[in-house]
Amino acid sequence: MPSLDAVMESEKSPAPTSGKPAAGCGQGTLAVHAGEARQKPGDAVTDAIFCASTYTFPDTQSVIDYIEKEQSREEYGRYGNPGEKVVEKKLAALEGAESAVLFASGMAALVGVLMAKLGQGDNVVFTDECYHRSRQFCREHLSRFGVETITVKTGDYAAIEAAITPKTRMLVSESPTNPHQSCIDLEKFAEIGRRNGIETLIDATLATPYNLRPIDAGVDYVLHSCTKYLGGHNDLLAGSIAGSEDQLAQVRELRGIMGAINQPHAIYLLQRGLKTFELRMQRHNENGLAVARFLEAHPRVEKVYYPGLESHRDHAHAKKYMRGFGGLVTFLVKDADWRATADVVDRSKVCRIAPSLGGVESLIEQPLVMSYYQRTPEERKAFGIPDNMIRLACGIEDAADLIGDLEQALRA
Ligand SMILES: *Cc1c(COP(=O)(O)O)cnc(C)c1O
Repeated sequence: MPSLDAVMESEKSPAPTSGKPAAGCGQGTLAVHAGEARQKPGDAVTDAIFCASTYTFPDTQSVIDYIEKEQSREEYGRYGNPGEKVVEKKLAALEGAESAVLFASGMAALVGVLMAKLGQGDNVVFTDECYHRSRQFCREHLSRFGVETITVKTGDYAAIEAAITPKTRMLVSESPTNPHQSCIDLEKFAEIGRRNGIETLIDATLATPYNLRPIDAGVDYVLHSCTKYLGGHNDLLAGSIAGSEDQLAQVRELRGIMGAINQPHAIYLLQRGLKTFELRMQRHNENGLAVARFLEAHPRVEKVYYPGLESHRDHAHAKKYMRGFGGLVTFLVKDADWRATADVVDRSKVCRIAPSLGGVESLIEQPLVMSYYQRTPEERKAFGIPDNMIRLACGIEDAADLIGDLEQALRA
């Protein structure tokens, strides 16, 4: 964490600053102030939204100076935006990383980093519980460019070691995973990468930098769908990848070519959402744990997947690495077929039926219907998606109201 002085003083100048911050400042302060200029355009306390697609130079010599001296200023919208720089610095500070690159969505960030880092003949090792679109991108698209994806079981470190070949360039995992909430031993994962000279990436979307700090554990890259907790209001899409300035240089360059940049208004919404990041995470953590404990004790609930519960298979890893366990709670309804499970979802009044997670509104869904409806029963079994599974993304409502709502929804 940067010191208070580093956050408040270095930001007097609006010029982008980088470099690994020193220890000191809390995440609440960072979320509000990190990355922001102390004095902003129009003397406003909040940042301006720069809608510009291009940026002007006063004269020809200024263009030449910009190119020759590699001056830090804007040039064209695809290469950067002042608001984007602020949010990138804020995300890097929260992550304890040197740098961060913002993308149009979490998937754009994942595609960006893999396209920047992998080439023909390389392979990437993925764990099997990673986000299904991430795995689909590897399987159906990276493969067309001669990049092989090797899938291993989440948390099986011997299998990761065994999968590594001289052509392996990256190890990718998620922690916690969705919807089973498997949590990995981050130090072990990072160590396998380091020892073999292979970069490691963790998609920590479900944890956020409030609950998990993969960079501190030695992981090279941390990916977030900022659409979830970081934006936090179910009103924007964004993604980010954090790591060292050097390692991210190619990713940043490729983003400028791909054009997978976010829009100024969405970037501002993300910055605004981040102001309350710490407060929201505290509430998501409280609600998640309270709801998980309630469900675990309920006679109509067969099983609860929540890393904060002692009964979770990976509770030891979760306890070692996580500060809190987030708002996502997955559970199985006892002796229920898919229809009886759907009835529980449909009876919920507070929780809204939708995919996604991490916003202030609680969202509920049945994975069988929402994400696996067109899969065969065999495929669903292989993915570990039983018919009676419900995924509840607790928002920031009152825990008592969420519990009361579930209580009535489960009373059948
Ligand atoms: C949502 C999500 C993504 C994809 O992010 P988008 O912003 O929707 O593109 C990737 N990984 C995880 C774990 C997610 O939950």
